[in-house]
Amino acid sequence: MKIGVLALQGAFAEHRKMLKKLGIQSFEIRKKSDLSNAVDNNDIDGLIIPGGESTVIGKLLYDLDLFDDIKKLILEGLPVFGTCAGLILLAREIENDSRTYLGAMDIKVRRNAYGRQLGSFFTESEFKGIGVIPMTFIRAPYISSVGKNVEVLSEVDGNVVAARENNILVTSYHPELNDDLKVHKFFVEMCKLNK
Ligand code: GLN
Repeated sequence: MKIGVLALQGAFAEHRKMLKKLGIQSFEIRKKSDLSNAVDNNDIDGLIIPGGESTVIGKLLYDLDLFDDIKKLILEGLPVFGTCAGLILLAREIENDSRTYLGAMDIKVRRNAYGRQLGSFFTESEFKGIGVIPMTFIRAPYISSVGKNVEVLSEVDGNVVAARENNILVTSYHPELNDDLKVHKFFVEMCKLNK
């Protein structure tokens, strides 16, 4: 079992630490060959797209010619976990931005939904099936509408902040910035079931 972590910008190291604590091997995807070598060797069981700045990560995906390879893997069913900017990159539509990126998940999102500068906060709330977990929000988006095949997993103040559609899991918050391993464990289970 090996999980690729997109390492172009943002909180990728923190995700790798969480996986390590769960005893799961991971590797960084910084360039096209990092991904293609893993695919050729059948050595990738899941992908994490971390938080950071979606515009920056999105541009780098194109500049480094990673975009189509990643989109193809996701459409083929590779389990993927997007946090914050990763969620934005996976969404079919961004309500307050004309751009879209991978567009693989049937959700509409609102970027910087809690404000740009002062929009960071911490709370604890329910993640469906695994209980109450810590949630750190940093200039976070929320999901403003979901398609019919999307399962809502967390809501905070009436807004959807975690969801799943088939092989795609997203959270507006950053589980990698707290010690609780439950969400990563949930994703690892998705990867194991798909293997
Ligand atoms: N505000 C960022 C964006 O729009 C997301 C912030 C984050 O990933 N913590 O891409």
